[in-house]
Amino acid sequence: MSNPQHFKVVIVGTGPGGYVAAIRAAQLGLQTAVVEKDQLGGTCLNWGCIPTKAWITSAHLYEQIKRAREFGIEVGEPKINWPWMLERKNKVVSQLTGGVKTLLTGRKVEIVRGTATLTSANRMKVTAGSESRELTFEHAILATGAVSSVPPGFQVDGRQVITSQEALELPAQPRRLAVLGGGVVGTEFASFFAALGTEVTLIEMLPRLVPAEDDEIAQTLEREMKKHKITIHTGTRVEGIAEGRDGARVLTLAGGKTVESDVVLVATGRRPYTEGLGLEGVGVARGDRGKIAVNDKLQTSVKSLFAIGDVTDIRQLAHFASAQGKAAAEIIAGHPAQTNWRAVPSATFTSPEIASVGLTEREARAEGRTLRIGRFPFRAHGRNIADGELIGFVKLVADAETDQVLGAHIIGAKASELIHECSLAIAADLNLHDLAQAIHAHPTLTEALGEAAEDGEGMAIHLMRQEVKVPSR
Ligand SMILES: Cc1cc2nc3c(=O)[nH]c(=O)nc-3n(C[C@H](O)[C@H](O)[C@H](O)COP(=O)(O)OP(=O)(O)OC[C@H]3O[C@@H](n4cnc5c(N)ncnc54)[C@H](O)[C@@H]3O)c2cc1C
Repeated sequence: MSNPQHFKVVIVGTGPGGYVAAIRAAQLGLQTAVVEKDQLGGTCLNWGCIPTKAWITSAHLYEQIKRAREFGIEVGEPKINWPWMLERKNKVVSQLTGGVKTLLTGRKVEIVRGTATLTSANRMKVTAGSESRELTFEHAILATGAVSSVPPGFQVDGRQVITSQEALELPAQPRRLAVLGGGVVGTEFASFFAALGTEVTLIEMLPRLVPAEDDEIAQTLEREMKKHKITIHTGTRVEGIAEGRDGARVLTLAGGKTVESDVVLVATGRRPYTEGLGLEGVGVARGDRGKIAVNDKLQTSVKSLFAIGDVTDIRQLAHFASAQGKAAAEIIAGHPAQTNWRAVPSATFTSPEIASVGLTEREARAEGRTLRIGRFPFRAHGRNIADGELIGFVKLVADAETDQVLGAHIIGAKASELIHECSLAIAADLNLHDLAQAIHAHPTLTEALGEAAEDGEGMAIHLMRQEVKVPSR
């Protein structure tokens, strides 16, 4: 092995946590290296956020084309061309992963290929095949992400029993798909395949889908998914899997019901990934499910080592990993960093989309607060009517005493875009009145946010049910 190469910061993993941390560290003048054992861009760019959204956009277009007549356009019957969809998705991925490489090299970040194993608090070995080299560092940021966790009894074979990773490489559209898990990944894939015409069965062990979301949002999503012909079993455990006729898979559900499917997608959560990282040897403390425990400055129990992203298991979201990555780099460089995670939005690209930020109504009530809730349905909104997007609503949760916005929950078209005004409101400690006072351009979907805020004050203009009362202020 040659002499070790020294860096101020070495970052393990180049997902949205790692590559963003590396760029920020380089921007702040730190000599930086990243280590990556697989593809640049991590889960998000290669097997997560980006390829799924490329596909979901195709599915949405397919559905819109089928509605063309409603909008006064005559077209023939659209047809899915699976290889073309696969090819487009792969092109999108390679454009973006190529972009990450350009950004890193442009900032003079050294890209080291191989698997990193910590050998001390300031040293790691990087192994690629039979080659290995040593890196020394003042600080390292561990950004090794998460992997699908597969329940006991399920053997992923990559063809018929698959995780989200293999789902993105399926050689053909399955006729029947069973999805295990009604969280973000499970509901997105269920919506996507159902939109293309696959017969989808979704099975969730908990009493409802998307358990982290507000109750009303989860109920509306379940109702809409059923309208999209998805068979949903909530509060249902899968007790076994066996081979059926013509190579199909048969799932046995609690109570004895069976579901026959050509492909079974296991989407029962993702666990922090730390294999081979050598954490035990250097004494890095771990939390439940093997996550790397960090303090509020993202520092692990070993002072020179920081951890960010999915491996910390705080929120498994790409933009959260990036926010943590920027913060870790800034802290290492001795700069003040934003580490207040109160306003982290999340979006689920189901049909209809959902997005949220802050507390759900249930969480806010559990804090003992009296609440003021503002709602506005999309069916009452001009731009939604013009767009033919009547499904959905905005729900704002505010403290009745202070009027402070505590949470926002949106289901419907462009929910993932609309949520950010509410994120800013929560981050800036704004109240409902501030949101109601903000002038929203007409006709835009954002007007529904202003109306929901006004509804919270009993003053929505386009809702008949309100008793008009002027708030005392
Ligand atoms: C199907 C799917 C859809 C998703 N959609 C969204 C979405 O729409 N929006 C959203 O916000 N989030 C989404 N996510 C979650 C998102 O992908 C993750 O939150 C995000 O990728 C986490 O980033 P990270 O940097 O922590 O880790 P990752 O992106 O997982 O990157 C970790 C990297 O570390 C590398 N690595 C691991 N160990 C080592 C080692 N010892 N040495 C060298 N390299 C190593 C891995 O190869 C990997 O490249 C989705 C996830 C999935 C699975």
